[in-house]
Amino acid sequence: MFSDQLKNAVRQAERIGRETPLSPSGFRALLEKSAGGQILEPEEIVALLNGTHDQINQKTVLEFAAQDQRPKDRDILLLPPLYFSSVCENQCLYCDFSSGGVRLSLSDFAEEFAALVDLGYRSIELVSSQDPDIYLKSPDYSEENQSFDLQGVLPYFEESSRRLKQAGGGMLTSNIPPVDRNGFQQLHAAGLDCYLIWLETFNPDQYEKLHYSHGPKNSQTFRLNSIEESIAAGLKHVAGAFLKGLYDWRKEELILYLFDSYLKAQRGRGFSIIGTPRLKGKFTQSSLVKPYGVSDDEYILNIALDRILFDGILWLQTRESFPFNLDLIDRFGGGVILTLTSCTAPGGYSKPPDARAQFPVYKQDLEQSVAQLQERDLNVRFDWTPEVLATFLRNNHSTQAQS
Ligand code: SF4
Repeated sequence: MFSDQLKNAVRQAERIGRETPLSPSGFRALLEKSAGGQILEPEEIVALLNGTHDQINQKTVLEFAAQDQRPKDRDILLLPPLYFSSVCENQCLYCDFSSGGVRLSLSDFAEEFAALVDLGYRSIELVSSQDPDIYLKSPDYSEENQSFDLQGVLPYFEESSRRLKQAGGGMLTSNIPPVDRNGFQQLHAAGLDCYLIWLETFNPDQYEKLHYSHGPKNSQTFRLNSIEESIAAGLKHVAGAFLKGLYDWRKEELILYLFDSYLKAQRGRGFSIIGTPRLKGKFTQSSLVKPYGVSDDEYILNIALDRILFDGILWLQTRESFPFNLDLIDRFGGGVILTLTSCTAPGGYSKPPDARAQFPVYKQDLEQSVAQLQERDLNVRFDWTPEVLATFLRNNHSTQAQS
C-alpha cells in the first residue's frame, strides 16, 4: 500500500525549498520528460518542484504548459455534484458541514437527479458526508478496518444508475467517505464507475491537527488505502487531489505525484481525474493554515504543473470563479472537467436548497457559460461515460487494457 511509503514520501517532500534550484536547462529537460509521458524518478520530481521556487523556472512552466497539447484539448466535460447527505460525524476544522446536516429522502433525491438529467447531464457526482445513520458501523468496525452496512447508501446509487440507464447511459462518480473493499464491491454493483476522494493533506502531523480524533476520518491510512481498495474491487477510474491551502502545496504536489506513480506501477493505472480544490472561506485565516495560503499566481502555476505531470484529466473547480477557470482554459487549453451547475447542499436543483452549503461556490448561468465556451470553439459535453473519460487520459493504455 502507498500508505506504507508515506513516511518516506514526506521526508522527500521536506527537501523542497531547502535545496538550490535546478538550472533552467535541467529544469526544462524534466518538463519535457514528463510531458513525453515518462515517469520522473523521485529525485527528479523533488528537483523539479524545488526548482519552481525560481522565477525563471516558473515562467518556463507557464510557457511550457501553454504550448503543450493534452488529449482532447478542445473538449470540456461537464460534471455536476449531487449531495444526498450533509449529516456528518467528522468535524473537519475547515468544513461547514460539522453541524446541522440534512439528508435527502430517496424521492427528493430522485427529483434532484431527474432535474440534472433534464438539463442534459449524464455524468453525475454523488456526494455525501460521513452520515452515521447511513454509513452504519458493522459489529467488527474499527478505525483501521472501517466496515459499514451500506443498505442506507446503496439505494441512492441504484436509483441513479436506473435513471441513467433509462436516459441512455452515463457515468456515476462518488465523493463519499471511504469504505472497505467489500463496500466498494457493493457500490460498484450498484452502479459506481469512478471513486473520487480528496486526500486533504498528505502531511500526517497537519492531517492530525485538522481532523476530529473521534470520527472515522481520523484514520489517514484508511483514507489513503481506499484508493487501492476501490481498484481491487474492480473500479476502472479513481480520482484524487489534495486541498490546496492546508499545507505547502509544492510538498503536497510531490506526494500526489509519487502516489500516482505508485498506482501506475503497482495497480496498472494512476488517477484518471486530478482535482484542483483550493481552500476558501474564513478558515483560511486560521493560524493552522495561514502560512500555506495559495495565491492566484501560485494556483495557476500548480495548474500548469498538473497539466505537465499527470496523465489524468484536470477537474477545474467551482470554488474558483467561472472567468478565472475560463482564463485557465484560454491560457493552457481544454481537455478538462468543469462544473457549471453546482449546489454544495443537499437539494437545490429541483427547488431552492434549505440546507447549509459545504463551501461557497460561484453562481453561474449554465446557458451563458456554455455559450462562452462554444464561442471559443470548445466542444462542451454533458453526456459522457467511463469509456469517454479514458480517451482524455494521456498514455491511456493501462486504463484501456483493463476496461
Ligand atoms: S469535510 Fe467531509 S468529512 Fe469533514 S466535516 Fe465536512 S463533510 Fe464531514
